[in-house]
Amino acid sequence: MDALDRAAELLSGRTRIVAFTGAGISAESGIPTYRGAGGLWGKYDPAKFASIQTFRENPATYWAFFRDLRYPILRDARPNAGHEALARLEAGGLLSALVTQNIDGLHQEAGSRRVVELHGNSRFVSCQQCGMTYGMKEIYAQLTEGKKAVPTCLQCGGRLKTTVVLFGEPLPPDALKEAAEAIEDCDAMISVGSSLVVYPAALFPQRAAAGGARLIIVNEEPTPLDAMADLAVGAKAGSFLPALADALL
Ligand code: NAD
Repeated sequence: MDALDRAAELLSGRTRIVAFTGAGISAESGIPTYRGAGGLWGKYDPAKFASIQTFRENPATYWAFFRDLRYPILRDARPNAGHEALARLEAGGLLSALVTQNIDGLHQEAGSRRVVELHGNSRFVSCQQCGMTYGMKEIYAQLTEGKKAVPTCLQCGGRLKTTVVLFGEPLPPDALKEAAEAIEDCDAMISVGSSLVVYPAALFPQRAAAGGARLIIVNEEPTPLDAMADLAVGAKAGSFLPALADALL
């Protein structure tokens, strides 16, 4: 039996599937992953560019990295067949929630409705002083046309930060709670495009499996949790997920 048939068999009759996604699902949309082949952290040190400490000590370094390297790619990326397949599974009543480590907003753009973002979203910024939130598009002009090194709040002049969770910051409690509830209630989990090495996020597939849910891992490279999964598939999300959705719907 091939991996697709086996996955369809494992998920047959399951209607509370939770998808758990990482950077790999957006690789086919042109957004580099952190780890794995072509990963971003091979070239840039996360401690320097994406830590809360750097942001506090030298926000201009963070914003220069975001302005030149991250945002142009994130802004132009569009959902791919993998994102769309997960949205189809939800619309078809099989997927109860999608928990993502991604910050790109592509699941929502593909039509997914119940999306729990563990690491925030790069499409928004908030003021470190008054909490006011803005769309990134509105603020990006301050960095480019306005030539500001660090964008500032239009209300109070405070320093702005993307709503992405940086290294050294806690995960948002509401998202953690919602993810935990969805996982407690799930009868299967598909983990897609995650190296499953970042904690506490990588605990979620382990909790799902411990709670009796089927666990399927779809990732181009092996992960440390493959041994505990019912099935680990070495495949591209953009090919495997549409075929899986076709088989289940
Ligand atoms: P990761 O970079 O650690 O791992 C990505 C995994 O995806 C790798 O193991 C790789 O083999 C696999 N992969 C690459 N292309 C694939 C494809 N087409 N199909 C299936 N698998 C593929 O990613 P992670 O586990 O999400 O790491 C966590 C951190 O990365 C999170 O904090 C997240 O916020 C951040 N991140 C997000 C984005 C994004 O929003 N798109 C991009 C880069 C990093």
